Amino acid sequence: MSSVRKIGVMGGTFDPIHHGHLVAAEEAYNALGLERVIFIPTGDSFHKKDRRVTSPEDRYMMTCLATLENDHFRVSRIEIDRHEPSYTVETMREMSHWYPEGTASFYFITGVDAVMTMENWHEHEYLSGLCTIVAVSRPGYDRDESQGEISFPGFLRDSVVPLSIPSLSISSTDIRKRVAKGENIRYLVPPLVEKFIDKKGLYRKEGSGHRA
Ligand code: ATP
Ligand code: MG
Repeated sequence: MSSVRKIGVMGGTFDPIHHGHLVAAEEAYNALGLERVIFIPTGDSFHKKDRRVTSPEDRYMMTCLATLENDHFRVSRIEIDRHEPSYTVETMREMSHWYPEGTASFYFITGVDAVMTMENWHEHEYLSGLCTIVAVSRPGYDRDESQGEISFPGFLRDSVVPLSIPSLSISSTDIRKRVAKGENIRYLVPPLVEKFIDKKGLYRKEGSGHRA
């Protein structure tokens, strides 16, 4: 039996974290026989410069609340505590030093929508040497309009594992919109996350008051 530890990594803005993220991580954990899945909220979200992203501390807190009751889920501050833009390749390099050389292998869990943008990621050519990419299915992104079946970027070659998971048509964008309109988000996010959003007044319309 191999003694290499299989570590899952689930990166995201998590603004807010929702059941789509949790199902993706749990499915990867089971399908790939992972030891644990480490959730890594982004720090300075340079991918999303077009909108105001909730503070890293609030996103970190929601990620902790959402993963608390799952024994094999962990949360890392590795990107939040970094003060420059957080690049996945840097995070994977840093994490590879957490374990003695050759004793751990990393599985970066990500939706197919994100995989298709990876060619634009900083130093993406080094990613496949650092981890296996687990491309989980996501409603609305599973098919290439022209070619039918989706084809992954060539640079990933043998380092991508497609994983079909139960479809949850949930996105953080939709959740933020619902809250802004005063609509219900129950069952889209874990109850404690829903409570936190309400308590801190996150995602409400400008001027409707942000609570301390
Ligand atoms: P936003 O709408 O703000 O982009 P999001 O819902 O896409 O938010 P992210 O934090 O951007 O959430 O996503 C983190 C990772 O989780 C990405 O790899 C994304 O593809 C994946 N993911 C998010 N939602 C789902 C879902 N419903 N099913 C499968 N994967 C998902
Ligand atoms: Mg997204």
